[in-house]
Amino acid sequence: MAKKTVLVSGGAGFIGSHVTVELISAGHDVVVADNMSNCDMTCFEGVKKITGREDLPFIKMDFCNAAEVDKLFSEYPIDAVIHFAAFKAVGESVEEPVKYYKNNLISFLNVLETASKRGCNVLFSSSATVYGEPDKLPVTEESPRQPATSPYGNTKQICEDILSDTVKATGGKIKGIALRYFNPIGAHPSALIGELPRGVPNNLVPFITQTAIGKRECLSIFGNDYPTPDGTCQRDYIDIVDLAKAHVFAVTRMIDGKMKKDYEIFNVGTGRPVSVLELVNAFEKVNGLKLNYRFAPRRAGDVTAIWADPTLANEEMGWKAERTVEETLASAWAWEKHLAGK
Ligand code: UDP
Repeated sequence: MAKKTVLVSGGAGFIGSHVTVELISAGHDVVVADNMSNCDMTCFEGVKKITGREDLPFIKMDFCNAAEVDKLFSEYPIDAVIHFAAFKAVGESVEEPVKYYKNNLISFLNVLETASKRGCNVLFSSSATVYGEPDKLPVTEESPRQPATSPYGNTKQICEDILSDTVKATGGKIKGIALRYFNPIGAHPSALIGELPRGVPNNLVPFITQTAIGKRECLSIFGNDYPTPDGTCQRDYIDIVDLAKAHVFAVTRMIDGKMKKDYEIFNVGTGRPVSVLELVNAFEKVNGLKLNYRFAPRRAGDVTAIWADPTLANEEMGWKAERTVEETLASAWAWEKHLAGK
């Protein structure tokens, strides 16, 4: 595999920072760019420490500004871009749809416009949210996409379509891959990078760790009357380092000309359903503590159950999730303690 230069847009965030570490450890050069709208420099500093790359390029910039995007591509010999720069709060997207459509679509359009001019491949960070409430489980990449239930979810679907159309229009001059993430959780084993939610976390695992550390009083488990084995929702929780590694496989596949089609989609999940209660119990057990939780009404918009069929990513990309849910939950707790200085 030849060494390449990969641009990671939104590279200072939770997923972007873990992907940067894995790209560097696979031998690639990485350029990190972020507008810092939803994070601070904690993770970027952590990435530099983990990789020993004090000279790692960082550009603070806004991907909604086409001139800035063009300038970035002219300054670095970018072979592929992994695009994360986007807003991601589902609830906020319902309240402020224009903000979400404007930011998430314009930034991606700018990246695509420049990438297609320069013949640069594009990896888009999509989401299992595109499957909505699936009729059949597990979901494969062929499972139908359901109408989005939030502007955030809609931006994922629209960006997938924009990527597919653009790849087609270039006649395959640029290639595209969309990775559909299930539920990324956990932190790097070094505990130097992890998830840094602003304010009250929406996602389950940061809420669990913040409750365990005493920042939150009690975890609410949203719904225990779902038609699942224990009544709580089921998800496919994918370790953040495993997820990051999927990007290295995907980028390598694009750059080395191994793609079967010019535009490909892969589920990035474990194939293993875990209920909210199972996750809470596993967290308690592996970390040797008791979590304060209660059952609360269902949360609007939650699907009952979704998990991936990851066969395509396993067989085609040669990628497979490796860390156990216990290892992942231990890493999430180590990160929370690191943040608290414990
Ligand atoms: N959840 C919960 N309490 C919380 C946050 C989440 O019970 O404080 C549940 C939620 O109802 C869902 C699962 O945890 O069943 C995962 O939610 P998350 O927001 O992490 O991801 P989503 O699957 O909604 O993208």
